[in-house]
Amino acid sequence: MKKDIKSMYPDELKKEMEALGEKPFRAKQLYEWMHVKLAQSYDEMTNIPNSLKQKLEENFTYVTADTVTVQTSKIDGTKKFLFRLGDGNMVESVFMRYHHGNSVCISSQAGCRMGCRFCASTIDGLARNLLPSEMLEQIYAISRETKERVSNVVVMGTGEPLDNYDNLIRFIKLITDESGLNISKRNITVSTCGIVENMKRLADEKMQITLALSLHGATQEKRRSLMPIADRYPIDEVVDACRYYFEKTGRRVTFEYSLISGVNDTADDARNLCSLVGGLNCHINLIPVNPVAERDFRQSCRRSVMRFKELLEQKNINVTVRREMGRDIDGACGQLRRRFG
Ligand code: SAH
Repeated sequence: MKKDIKSMYPDELKKEMEALGEKPFRAKQLYEWMHVKLAQSYDEMTNIPNSLKQKLEENFTYVTADTVTVQTSKIDGTKKFLFRLGDGNMVESVFMRYHHGNSVCISSQAGCRMGCRFCASTIDGLARNLLPSEMLEQIYAISRETKERVSNVVVMGTGEPLDNYDNLIRFIKLITDESGLNISKRNITVSTCGIVENMKRLADEKMQITLALSLHGATQEKRRSLMPIADRYPIDEVVDACRYYFEKTGRRVTFEYSLISGVNDTADDARNLCSLVGGLNCHINLIPVNPVAERDFRQSCRRSVMRFKELLEQKNINVTVRREMGRDIDGACGQLRRRFG
């Protein structure tokens, strides 16, 4: 089987070049073409001799993502990209402009098997894991198309990143590599529904990335009514894993809590949330749930959101209400879906 050249670390590429009887400096040139100049094919690589290009064609696959559509929000300029992968699977990514820099939200799987009740990405189940190169390529394609620098990456698109652990880690190491795009680890956020053993593994990697935990319910019972994965990983174990993450990395954990009218937005829910996370160095992101056609959840009204926020603030919990970006293009959290175009 051909190897995926864009998923290789610099030292691995060097070994491959040696195996092909090439000089080691070719590895450096290739790496730069792929990860700095963001070349779309070997053809663009002007300082690589044709003889080597031919060997590369024979021995490696060169992963690219074809842009199928780009939708731009009229509200805030957020752009949603639909990409077609080599095997025809589709993935979506979102480009957002913030005052602190440009942010890209990437997908980690084609589809998802976690089954969260309010989420569109899981409706058709999981097609497959994405390769490290396919996660990179979402960012590279967006950089090429927008001609803007991407400084923040959130792994919050379709898929459960900790259900694709090894590829995720390799992706993070490549996107933060000094000889590549060199994005700071502090500007990377990985969001999980709470796969406990992999949260701990991630903590043990001791990388300075931010971990976001999708909570959405403050008791085991409420959470499992929204997130079937909670049957496997009870809420206390998940919160303990967050504590462990903070202890190992010193990084404050973010809790995501989507507010659903009448389901998890009452004063009792807020109080339960306070006792659950009390004493933990964390930040809570409240997200008014985004409507998904196949689901009948309603968004909490402005007043309930504000009341919920105040109840948390009274207990000195760091809390913000997330701005909804790109809502008019279905670019907001939980609205990304598989599509066959
Ligand atoms: N699988 C990961 C990352 C993908 S989802 C996770 O579960 O964290 C990114 C975030 O969007 C998660 O917090 C998810 O629970 C939330 N989300 C999903 N559907 C949503 C919706 N309809 N409205 C608001 N947030 C939603």
